[in-house]
Amino acid sequence: MDSTAYFGQWGGSFIPEVLHETFRHLERAFAEIKSDPAFWQEYITLMSTYSCRPTPLTHAENLSQHFGGAQIYIKREDLNHTGAHKANNVMGQGLLVKRMGKTRVIAETGAGQHGVATATMAAKFGFDCTIYMGEEDVARQRPNVFWMEKMGATVVTVRDGSRTLKDAINEAFRDWVTNMDTTHYVFGTACGPAPFPEMVSWLQSIIGQEAREQILRQHGRLPARIYACVGGGSNSLGIFSSFFGEADTELVGVEAGGHGLDSGQHASRLCGHDASPGVAQGYKTMFLQNSDGQMLDTHSVSAGLDYIGVSPILADHWEKKTVRFEAATDREVIEALDLTMKKEGIIPALESAHAFVQAFKEAPELSPDDAVIINMSGRGDKDIFTIAQAFDDPSWKDFIIQRAAAYQK
Ligand SMILES: *Cc1c(COP(=O)(O)O)cnc(C)c1O
Repeated sequence: MDSTAYFGQWGGSFIPEVLHETFRHLERAFAEIKSDPAFWQEYITLMSTYSCRPTPLTHAENLSQHFGGAQIYIKREDLNHTGAHKANNVMGQGLLVKRMGKTRVIAETGAGQHGVATATMAAKFGFDCTIYMGEEDVARQRPNVFWMEKMGATVVTVRDGSRTLKDAINEAFRDWVTNMDTTHYVFGTACGPAPFPEMVSWLQSIIGQEAREQILRQHGRLPARIYACVGGGSNSLGIFSSFFGEADTELVGVEAGGHGLDSGQHASRLCGHDASPGVAQGYKTMFLQNSDGQMLDTHSVSAGLDYIGVSPILADHWEKKTVRFEAATDREVIEALDLTMKKEGIIPALESAHAFVQAFKEAPELSPDDAVIINMSGRGDKDIFTIAQAFDDPSWKDFIIQRAAAYQK
């Protein structure tokens, strides 16, 4: 195996024998597009005409004033088509699939955001599309299932295991083994076997490229700190990519603290103390597992951060201390969301709000000459059911009850 599959001791490619040829083909195709400037040009053109790139860098003047420290800037990945940074990865892989001459795509999805983005891409490129989703998630994320099906995708409900994201990933790999000649597996984050961690973070690096140029233009120097939430790790690696090795810029990844790091109900792999090294789902990283290697149940108010593993690239940065990891609790996330809506008229996704929490904690200790960037990975409109419940809004509850009654008539 290629040595670039490893990041320090993490990563690798632990795949069934039958998939070796498919992965070799994918690795070759990725090496080709990476060294072909025409690919990146085609990608930029697609993202500026079908999505909303470059996304703006917004100076949050009211929040900056409120905290009285660093100037807070927000990188607006929420303004992408389908409302999150997921579009960057999915559209890039769509172009790759076209080059490889395949006609069908499959994907796993947890919260459904990656599924919706993949279904969108498949519709645009004219690919057949099957999305694997755990039964629990199908029940929790009905609106996303609705849109995937309306865009022509087949959504397969996975009833194995805990019936969530990791089971959906296993099922998608099973499909790939049977259909590898026609099918590409559009992995959703910077995890899984090589070359996915590197490929996904390369496609997401467009965020960091833009942000670096924007902060220099708008603020005159590099930011003191950059905050990004960490699920699988793709949006954080995307924005960090242009700032690694900068002595004056500290990179901060924020994980899901759930009910607290000591509660056993969270999804913090690198900042808590419940994860350990392991090999699962085709790669080596820090997994939330017990001493027998059984995966633990994770919890977060945000479905997109609720995953047992983390990018091997981030595990390496964690070990080398080139990225600092923190966690935000569900309660802190709702407070940060409330403040951001009131002060800026911006609705972060519950995932993104984790990054806001940490930036708000630290902004007051910095000087008004400093800048910090928060990567706003997505928009919160999609979370209206969870957010309304967390705010315990009585008029929303009445609305839901009335809508349900209208269906029963
Ligand atoms: C999927 C998702 C995430 C988590 O994924 P990463 O790979 O860690 O970026 C974060 N924010 C939003 C809005 C998402 O949809």
